[in-house]
Amino acid sequence: VGMPLTQNQKDVAWPCNKEKYIVHYPETREIWSFGSGYGGNALLGKKCLALRIASVMGREQGWLAEHMLILGITNPQGKKHYIAAAFPSACGKTNFAMLIPPKEYNGWKIETVGDDIAWIKPSEDGQLYAINPEAGFFGVAPGTNTKTNPNCMATLHKDVIYTNVAVSDIGEVWWEGLTKEAPNNLTNWKGQPHQDGEKAAHPNARFTVSASQCPSIDADWENPAGVPISAFIFGGRRADTIPLVSEAFDWVDGVYKAATMGSETTAAAVGQQGVVRRDPFAMLPFTGYNMADYFDHWLQIGDQLEKQTKIHGTKVPKIFNVNWFRRDDQGNFIWPGFGQNMRVLEWIIQRCEGQANATETPIGLVPEYEDLNWTGSNFSEEQFEQVTDLDQALWIQEVESHHALFEKLGHKLPQALIKRQQTLLEKLKENIYA
Ligand code: GDP
Ligand code: MN
Repeated sequence: VGMPLTQNQKDVAWPCNKEKYIVHYPETREIWSFGSGYGGNALLGKKCLALRIASVMGREQGWLAEHMLILGITNPQGKKHYIAAAFPSACGKTNFAMLIPPKEYNGWKIETVGDDIAWIKPSEDGQLYAINPEAGFFGVAPGTNTKTNPNCMATLHKDVIYTNVAVSDIGEVWWEGLTKEAPNNLTNWKGQPHQDGEKAAHPNARFTVSASQCPSIDADWENPAGVPISAFIFGGRRADTIPLVSEAFDWVDGVYKAATMGSETTAAAVGQQGVVRRDPFAMLPFTGYNMADYFDHWLQIGDQLEKQTKIHGTKVPKIFNVNWFRRDDQGNFIWPGFGQNMRVLEWIIQRCEGQANATETPIGLVPEYEDLNWTGSNFSEEQFEQVTDLDQALWIQEVESHHALFEKLGHKLPQALIKRQQTLLEKLKENIYA
């Protein structure tokens, strides 16, 4: 990483170049990142090694390097599952990884293995095991507070490196959303006195902290054997169309869902439909080789798992799609999110154990209101309809818009995904609840 200096130019502490570039040579497992002020590129061990280079190695060696959090969920009877979830940046990975269950979830436990990257390897008997290759968290500070993510705030009690936050006259850090009011005599992230109406911290200001300080850290977070994965979850920010949760019919359908995943730009006007950017597997900027080949790698791992699980009586992980971000006509989030996501997680785990009920729709298996646990919640059936509604016209539009993504990926796209798109479209045109 660096900034090319011209002759006699003085070096700087934070090398950002006007011209930014990042090049990757998969053959030599080499990445050159110049001028990038994006921490994810500047910390070469993170996205560059643990995702871009590792994804190339994983394809060669039969494993997966993914942009996923890993969490453990234990029920009151002591039965534990691990899940891995991929959301694009700023869609809630760190929050989900450190989820605190609602107080009515007596005896349930959520533990954190990782919040951003997972290396996942199949065992001989067809079970996937995941490790978190990172030592710590490199999270976005703005918006983090004791209400949204108490575990994260507790992690930050000591030994933290902050980047681009504001600092008060007694040397305490501050960022938008930490407290309601900014402290007096604040110095902003640029080192200047903070002015009202300006941002004190950079919107992408970060903390760097050892994961071992996290109160919810899992006992096996450093276990080199990894933790067994029961389910994969994919999700982005979508104001409409995508329901709160749906389960894929099978591995191929799950890969299709993940491959066509999209997220709205957060800058989009409130209440309006934002611009949907496709971000397959939340890996678009991080896969170190051709995306169509990456889908094929996932499909091949699925084939391998299906064969092995048949022989050994193990289970292929189920794949789910979630969306915490449906909005009402006023532009407000309908689903309360954060700790309340536990209710969706419980349904997912029960589905893995063959317990909870699900209804078949063309786009996947979905819960009815009574299939979720609402103990202690005042979320109404009417609100539930709003976050799970499947609009036929919007869905046809959605699936047709996947064409643009598939065209970009060209002739290499696996046939199984093209076929899945066709059957999905046919079914949608019949009836959304057929
Ligand atoms: P990451 O970049 O994927 O790790 O995302 P973060 O966990 O840092 O969260 C990004 C933003 O999404 C923050 O502003 C969070 O407050 C917000 N967020 C996280 N989970 C939820 C949720 O369940 N509902 C809503 N509405 N916002 C959430
Ligand atoms: Mn994060």
